[in-house]
Amino acid sequence: LNFPEETTMDTILKTAKHPCYSECAHDYARMHIPVAPRCNISCNYCNRRYDCLHESRPGVTSEVLTPEGAYKKYLLVKDKLPNLKVIGIAGPGDALANFEETKEAIKLIKEDDPELTICISTNGLMLPEYAQELVELGVRHVTITINAIDPKIGALIYKWFHYQGKVLSGEEGAKILLDNQLEGLKFLSSKGVLCKVNIVMIKGLNDHHIPEVVNKVKEHGAFMTNIMPLIPAEGSEFEEMPLVSNKELNELRDRCSLDLKQMYHCKQCRADAIGQLSQDISIEFRGTKTDQGD
Ligand code: SF4
Ligand code: SF4
Repeated sequence: LNFPEETTMDTILKTAKHPCYSECAHDYARMHIPVAPRCNISCNYCNRRYDCLHESRPGVTSEVLTPEGAYKKYLLVKDKLPNLKVIGIAGPGDALANFEETKEAIKLIKEDDPELTICISTNGLMLPEYAQELVELGVRHVTITINAIDPKIGALIYKWFHYQGKVLSGEEGAKILLDNQLEGLKFLSSKGVLCKVNIVMIKGLNDHHIPEVVNKVKEHGAFMTNIMPLIPAEGSEFEEMPLVSNKELNELRDRCSLDLKQMYHCKQCRADAIGQLSQDISIEFRGTKTDQGD
């Protein structure tokens, strides 16, 4: 396997119990804590929704929690789930566009159980600024979504970027996003952090380009890639885009697996998912009064 040189034995052992990084860890549970509502870019496939009990995909959550609220919910969940091994921050926006909340939540949970694996997912725009702090916080699993390594293609996927007080668009913004993603990926990998790169496969837009993305992120130290089919979410710019079939998806994954480890079992989970990957039980914990000091 493609472990970065600096990866510690502790990280390798924890990875064996991370259900997304290790397919055979399916008996272990993860909990996503939705503490990151804002985002600093606009992907044309995004449609973040709250209070949606029946839709299951990234960006959907039934509530946004403060770090303290997330901590209280975690205490309830860990009592019920002895197999809980991973706490993830996967939105509903971007973990690093809400860095104070992300940091606070990680600290609270780590104080309770330093052995838990903390995992965050990000679009990578703010990685150059926060990657070092993530390492200091003990984060050893980071997911970065990188959909293109050509800013011309990136410009078709993203509408705008909010960066250092400016709103950017087009190839200019896509280039900054890409540079920051690759810089962050390289830095994290050099510190022994296992980086999974998510790639949304968008038919007719970046599908032919994905093998190049995989090779580029491999060069920058990625541990694995997770090619996921576009979900043409209602109300998003890409609502009318064509669906990718399982056959097309798996053929592309197979082709890319010759270069880098591929994830085949992603469930494209909600931002408040709880439980084993095969069985989201977050509904059991919805509406529990955990926020705002209860
Ligand atoms: Fe939505 Fe995530 Fe893209 Fe932000 S990075 S716009 S939350 S899909
Ligand atoms: Fe794992 Fe995929 Fe779910 Fe993320 S969305 S927790 S990678 S299965």
